[in-house]
Amino acid sequence: MMLTNIKVPAEQVSFLQAVRQGLGQQQGLFFPTSWPKLDIDKLLGMSLVERSSAILHALIGDELSQAEVAQMVSSAFTFPAPLVPVTDDVSCLELFHGPTLAFKDFGGRFMAQALAKAQGGKKTTIVTATSGDTGAAVAHAFYRQPGVQVVILFPKGKISSLQEKLFTTLGENITTLAVDGDFDQCQALVKQVFDHKALVEKLSINSANSINISRLFAQICYYFEAVAQVPADKRDQIVMAVPSGNFGNLTAGLIAKTLGLPIKRMVAATNANDTVPRYWRSGSWQPKTTVATLSNAMDVAAPNNWPRVEVLLTQGVINRTDIEAVMVDEDDTVFGVRQLSQLGYLSEPHAAVAFKALKRSLQQGEYGIFLGTAHPAKFKEQVENILGTPIALPEVLARCASEQGLSKDIPADFAVLQQELLKLEQA
Ligand SMILES: *Cc1c(COP(=O)(O)O)cnc(C)c1O
Repeated sequence: MMLTNIKVPAEQVSFLQAVRQGLGQQQGLFFPTSWPKLDIDKLLGMSLVERSSAILHALIGDELSQAEVAQMVSSAFTFPAPLVPVTDDVSCLELFHGPTLAFKDFGGRFMAQALAKAQGGKKTTIVTATSGDTGAAVAHAFYRQPGVQVVILFPKGKISSLQEKLFTTLGENITTLAVDGDFDQCQALVKQVFDHKALVEKLSINSANSINISRLFAQICYYFEAVAQVPADKRDQIVMAVPSGNFGNLTAGLIAKTLGLPIKRMVAATNANDTVPRYWRSGSWQPKTTVATLSNAMDVAAPNNWPRVEVLLTQGVINRTDIEAVMVDEDDTVFGVRQLSQLGYLSEPHAAVAFKALKRSLQQGEYGIFLGTAHPAKFKEQVENILGTPIALPEVLARCASEQGLSKDIPADFAVLQQELLKLEQA
């Protein structure tokens, strides 16, 4: 199936070409213009890997064989996504059982598979900005992959120390840059890199941000996995709440709905960085300066994936009423973590934002699912402060917590970033 550049519709590329390029001309995002028909009942009866292979093959088309896609999926999706009941009518879809304990592992690991196919052994440099968890997922997915250099920009001092340790301690082909600025500035620097045609060509630069279509496609699969775990008599009443920052996760959920998955409504939950809830109310798009919150991976004022949501609305496959946009402030986030704890469920601020938004939206008779996007231990300090009780570190975190971070400090300045990238070429 061909993908179209949203900004420059004349630019049409195949899946692997879109994976290679990341962004199209004028920084346009790639996106499908039509959607395959799927047999939902049949899919819901399959295993995670079998079902995900079928969905991804339908989306990608014949550029990759069914067997190739199945092999990629079974290498990438090596961990489960359990739906854990919290109350009678609310469950958490736990997406944090991968190697870096956040849902970004699904997209990052599938993207590593897709990029290996797309590059066919050619050298490549991945430049990506992280609001906390993408960095670790991408770094681990590409760690020691021959021919691949990874450069990760993160906002210095604005992500949790354990999040940081998960990707700054690897070294080798993973370079990490601590930018004196916020995530939106990191994202803007990456966009500047892509605007520099000569540099992109010279270093064969690619991005692993959620703008990469392979990440987005991979994330569609766990929405199906969620519904497959809901009792059949409740499947027509499902409301999903997504803790949102760059809105890749929400976009993937809306695509799942477009493909026929029974989701009654999606709740887009944000923290105080509420560009989308304000836009949804007023119709005017006015990002403010990013503010730091407890759910730091969602501290995004100018979400990159939003134009894709707009396309789904324009295509008429998603209606305005399919989306509810809800802002949850810091007090309510803290309250959410406590409430969940009282219900016997240990959580963290991102999931708590989604939980609170879901509670506000859920009507009698509906069945609510909120997405658990990160393991609570990744936000150990915040969670301990909120609950006043110590929480244990899983082994991967305990191991890297004691290691030395290897990141380099840089100002939010493109010229400096460019020099760092050119150094890699000489290395
Ligand atoms: C990245 C991230 C989010 C936000 O996801 P988007 O797809 O950017 O909206 C939410 N929670 C956690 C823990 C994350 O790492």
